[in-house]
Amino acid sequence: LIDLRDVNKYFGDLHVLRDIDLTVGKGEVVVVIGPSGSGKSTLCRAINRLETVQSGTILLDGQPLPAEGKALARLRAEVGMVFQSFNLFAHKTVLQNVSLGQVKVRGRKKEDADRRSRELLERVGVADQADKYPAQLSGGQQQRVAIARALAMGPKVMLFDEPTSALDPEMINEVLEVMRQLAQDGMTMIVVTHEMGFARSAANRVVFMADGRIVEDRSPQEFFTNPSSERARDFLSKIL
Ligand code: ATP
Ligand code: MG
Repeated sequence: LIDLRDVNKYFGDLHVLRDIDLTVGKGEVVVVIGPSGSGKSTLCRAINRLETVQSGTILLDGQPLPAEGKALARLRAEVGMVFQSFNLFAHKTVLQNVSLGQVKVRGRKKEDADRRSRELLERVGVADQADKYPAQLSGGQQQRVAIARALAMGPKVMLFDEPTSALDPEMINEVLEVMRQLAQDGMTMIVVTHEMGFARSAANRVVFMADGRIVEDRSPQEFFTNPSSERARDFLSKIL
């Protein structure tokens, strides 16, 4: 479904993605971990073209990423992204947040969009918050709304960039639970997280990045019991 081949990305002189090869099949859940600055966020952003890359190819469903215009808007709809900061529209209600893109990008009628939004809000457990504004919700609730908003576009893949790292501990689980459910329902997911419990229980593969490279790409079981690189062993000893 997602195919990166020999991708390289520079910020000026800084080489942040180095010869990245990564394939994610339909229904796979890939957890990406690695030290700060290793390029995890840049990798996610490159996949939905929030960043351009200097060389290599990135394919979604066998198609190269469009550079601009309507095709790019459609691509963004197919690659749902959830960030550490929830990025909801502060001056719109929860329901409006989830419905807006469906109307604007997918061309749905408002009533249809609202109906679907309510279903999704139900699914992530915040149906009762539909008419509130984001600031009136807890962080965990806001993040679940952000997930519903991305799902509302009918994405083929969901990218999560440290979705729980801005949350208080008691809210982390409610968000991880929604993500686990999504994974179980067969959603293709790339998840940057340091939640190793989630990686163990929900991931098909763990990708370990360091200095812009993919150093390991293996099953969680192999990765956690027997990491093959010094970098990964060192990293794991610090966070586990
Ligand atoms: P973290 O765990 O802290 O989120 P990360 O693995 O997500 O780190 P990236 O955010 O992808 O790392 O950053 C990779 C490198 O690129 C870092 O050295 C960072 O400073 C640099 N970088 C990121 N964004 C930019 C930018 N817009 N301009 C210049 N350098 C950047
Ligand atoms: Mg990051």
